Amino acid sequence: MKFLVSIIILIFLQACKQKQQPIKITSMENTDAKNNPYYSRTDTTKLNVSNDEWKKILAPDLYAISREAATERAFTGKYNEFDEVGDYYCAVCGNHLFRSTSKFASSCGWPSFFEADKEGVYYKRDQTYGMDRVEVLCKRCDSHLGHVFDDGPKPTGLRYCMNSVSLEFVGDSQK
Ligand SMILES: [Zn+2]
Repeated sequence: MKFLVSIIILIFLQACKQKQQPIKITSMENTDAKNNPYYSRTDTTKLNVSNDEWKKILAPDLYAISREAATERAFTGKYNEFDEVGDYYCAVCGNHLFRSTSKFASSCGWPSFFEADKEGVYYKRDQTYGMDRVEVLCKRCDSHLGHVFDDGPKPTGLRYCMNSVSLEFVGDSQK
């Protein structure tokens, strides 16, 4: 009888372990760019990767924003109030997108830039949600980054309204 009880306890403990483990492993894998074989800050070769494949590689919030054009909540992004000197790369593929010198303090709640790397982004008209906007996408991996508006500061008059999740900052001191 005692033996039977200990077997049951053992099975129960094992079941608990199994429930907890996958969550830990997934979150570690997804936040680590090393597990993304397409990520490179030097290779600018155009990528053609399916969303099924990206879903296996990217963290859930990055997948939702970059591949399904979701938007992070205003004032929650890590780069919204952030003014270090360096460069911003695509969090999906490593493509260069912005230099910190084009970032400005905007009250909109998302990191904002007045100029993008011309080799880094392209544009698409976006008429979803009853609005007429210009979507900004990564030239290398076609990921959604945010939108661009014409109410920005000089010299361009543009405001690139980006999702922090889609960006990865590398400071000049880290290079
Ligand atoms: Zn990209």
